[in-house]
Amino acid sequence: MNITQKKFKRILVANRGEIAIRVIRSAKEMGIETVAVYSDADRNAPHVKLADFACHIGKSPSTDSYLQGKKIIDVALSLDVDAIHPGYGFLSENADFAKNVSEAGIVFIGPSPEAIKVMGDKLAAKAAVQAYNIPLVPGTDKAIKDINLAKKKAQEAGYPILIKASAGGGGKGMRVVEKEEDFEEQMERAVSEAQSAFGDGSVFIEKYITSPKHIELQVLGDQHGNIVHLFERECSVQRRHQKVIEEAPSKVITEEKRAQMGKDAINVAKACSYFGAGTVEFIMDENLNYYFLEMNTRLQVEHPVTEMITGIDLVKEQIKIAEGSALSFSQDEVEKRGHAIEVRVYAEDPENNFLPDTGTLNIYQRPQGLGVRVDDGYEEGIPIPIFYDPMIAKLIVHAKNRDEAIARMLRAIEEYNISGIKTTLPFCQFVLGHDSFVSGKFTTKFVEKFFAPEVLSQELSEQEYQAASVLIYEYLQKTGANETANPIQNKAGNSKWKERLR
Ligand code: ADP
Repeated sequence: MNITQKKFKRILVANRGEIAIRVIRSAKEMGIETVAVYSDADRNAPHVKLADFACHIGKSPSTDSYLQGKKIIDVALSLDVDAIHPGYGFLSENADFAKNVSEAGIVFIGPSPEAIKVMGDKLAAKAAVQAYNIPLVPGTDKAIKDINLAKKKAQEAGYPILIKASAGGGGKGMRVVEKEEDFEEQMERAVSEAQSAFGDGSVFIEKYITSPKHIELQVLGDQHGNIVHLFERECSVQRRHQKVIEEAPSKVITEEKRAQMGKDAINVAKACSYFGAGTVEFIMDENLNYYFLEMNTRLQVEHPVTEMITGIDLVKEQIKIAEGSALSFSQDEVEKRGHAIEVRVYAEDPENNFLPDTGTLNIYQRPQGLGVRVDDGYEEGIPIPIFYDPMIAKLIVHAKNRDEAIARMLRAIEEYNISGIKTTLPFCQFVLGHDSFVSGKFTTKFVEKFFAPEVLSQELSEQEYQAASVLIYEYLQKTGANETANPIQNKAGNSKWKERLR
């Protein structure tokens, strides 16, 4: 391959919010100028103020602004931009956009359009990785239309099964079928859902792993054929098949398993001649058997936990790779240190089925202190626009070990002061203090199994509070002050949270 080496002077960030800021920060540290783009709703957004240049690209709905590929390329051309970073979401996994950027003579900071295309289709991805003997979830390896054949395949895989949209993403277009009687109806629904959400009605069948963990591996590849993995992230705490809490490393993965999964992740990347930062997602059963789910060909929301344990700035690496540089480290040189946890702060009401909440950030005070990082895109007084993803911020902590990271996260959540909008923080606080999370044994079923809105509204009576305090005291005496993940203590914290939110 003919690789052009070119140091960038100016890049455009085709995104908004926290990820636009995240990219701008790394670019600045590399001495690269930045161009922000913004919609009507984002006129006063922090990412606009932080960039060296900013260009208005349209009305508030993303279809009129952040998804306007041509307009964004025109802005880039008019401002003599060397490269475009797509962030995540929006145009980041749009192969046509990546191609149009390159054809305009601008570098796309990401993989090739071909890799995006193959991995953007779950079935094409499975086909591509088969040559490398990557374990796949039992099911069909082709789109399935014929209902009788589909039923037969479902029977072979064994109920419960999952009908998935080939073009699916973001947890959308998936239907669990518990028994054969329901198959036909669910299949029809899945096809029509996939058609309306993705413009492609292709669906396929996978065995539904009843209580799995979601484990994914970060990979980095350059344009010279070097690929490394940066260990795993455990992302099993989910609602609606979408992640809320992530950590690195996973408590349950052994060094042997890690090495094996790392090798497989690298092979998945090889299967599509991958370069850039990417994530290989696996689903894992209770016996630590794992199966390939998909590869995301972009920077992930949860990338900071990997940065915290490896000390590697993934955005800088993405930029260097796009400039044509070879990776400056080998697999043996990638080390992990300590433990990192991220909680996603969504403008959602956990007491009302996690429905998005709207409003203005009347009070917005971030937690601080050793090992605490907040990646966000808002400031106090800013209304949360209804047009985009409801994620306000990511709160990330890093500590020597998992117990300390949990304690640090609980402390940081306690310090985070947000009013004017309901958020997922009280839910995250509940999870972090829960035995199942502390033990590391939790699965993607955590919310279904353990969470009910009432757990957030349980106020302790004075008597219960006294009893809890005694228990905490005894517990600390027995275990030493480091072991702070005490569910009772957390309960008391929860009620304080509730007071503050009202
Ligand atoms: P998307 O691209 O929509 O995010 P994924 O294939 O990555 O879809 O799956 C998202 C989540 O759905 C997983 O993290 C897991 O919780 C659940 N899931 C996906 N496939 C299976 C399966 N075969 N069995 C059980 N759960 C699954």
